[in-house]
Amino acid sequence: MTTVAEPPAAGLAVPTASPRAAIYAAEPLVSFVGVQKTYDGVNLVVRKLDLDIRRGEFLTLLGPSGSGKTTTLMMLAGFESPTAGEILLERKPITRTPPHKRNFGMVFQNYALFPHMTVGDNVAYPLTVRRVPKAEQAQRVERALAMVRLQGMAGRYPSQLSGGQQQRVALARALVFEPQLVLMDEPLGALDKQLREHMQIELKELHRQLGVTFVFVTHDQGEALTMSDRVAVFNNGVIQQIAPADTMYEQPSNRFVASFIGDGTMLPATLRAATLEGQADRCSAVMADGTVLTGINVNAAANGAEVMVGIRPERIAVHAAPPAAAAGNLLRAQVRSIVYFGDHLRLLCGVGADGRHEAAVKLPLSAPAVPAAGDHVWLEFPQALTRVYA
Ligand code: ADP
Ligand code: MG
Repeated sequence: MTTVAEPPAAGLAVPTASPRAAIYAAEPLVSFVGVQKTYDGVNLVVRKLDLDIRRGEFLTLLGPSGSGKTTTLMMLAGFESPTAGEILLERKPITRTPPHKRNFGMVFQNYALFPHMTVGDNVAYPLTVRRVPKAEQAQRVERALAMVRLQGMAGRYPSQLSGGQQQRVALARALVFEPQLVLMDEPLGALDKQLREHMQIELKELHRQLGVTFVFVTHDQGEALTMSDRVAVFNNGVIQQIAPADTMYEQPSNRFVASFIGDGTMLPATLRAATLEGQADRCSAVMADGTVLTGINVNAAANGAEVMVGIRPERIAVHAAPPAAAAGNLLRAQVRSIVYFGDHLRLLCGVGADGRHEAAVKLPLSAPAVPAAGDHVWLEFPQALTRVYA
């Protein structure tokens, strides 16, 4: 007789080394399916949105002003309805479910607290609406205030709190009824830089502790990259790319994302060879001054296409003379300016014919040799990290 180990029953939570892996293997919490939105019947401000939100993730919608982030969040919250398409929560359509029945927590930049109510009553409000018994309310309010580190503040009025504290009360109010999804639209936008960075860390930590799904909207790429499990970059009502922060930074999928995220160099060129022998994903492109650059053909551009060659500033090495055995791309450049950033030096260099294009280089303070403004230099960067965009 042989014994076969039984497979775990379907639907049973299997403990794994990484809880995140288990979360990501699960089905999406929310799906947007072919969602479109127009306010005036003419312009689609959300063009065609197909987006899965994973249970437990911190997803950030990032994009310039007017790109459709708030509209997307408002459709998810139920305050706006899609012109076309469906929104599913755990596979069931909620497209026509009113906001209060969706049971999502919400924090908005201008989603003010009730000024005539104490902090405690503000936080208790969602529980009162849900007819939670008073004794239980008190306990849950206390716990929610502890979560945002505002213990003992229940008796104060919003006007007696700082901006950061008020935003933490709003967060406690969004979390107190233990929603499975919390929506935040630029919640830190009104705070000063130091407080904002502090709150970013607190929010991320809170997300880690609670395991609740967060959908967070911002136009600040630094905020998006530091806080999120995944970032969705919006432009003109379309998601340009959705990926973890490091992928978004290292492997942008088009020139919009490459320029919007980070502050890399983008050099115009013409594609000379769409593939290279033995390296199907590599291509070579030639700049107007004849400089040839080799990199990844990100969008499968064809021979003769006008392309943009992208490289990140921290990937560029600076040489006073052309290196004898250069393995990477080489660009002649003239240093225009050197800016001290406290933790690094930033060189802005003129490159190309008449130095008409600009390349940014990030040098560590420990760099062995730092050129001076006006110096002629050679910039070297790896072909594998050079990205060519259609
Ligand atoms: P974001 O949050 O990315 O800045 P929005 O979703 O707020 O973008 O706006 C997307 C587009 O929709 C913008 O052009 C904006 O002017 C327009 N818009 C937003 N809300 C309304 C509204 N209530 N009525 C009409 N147009 C709107
Ligand atoms: Mg907005």
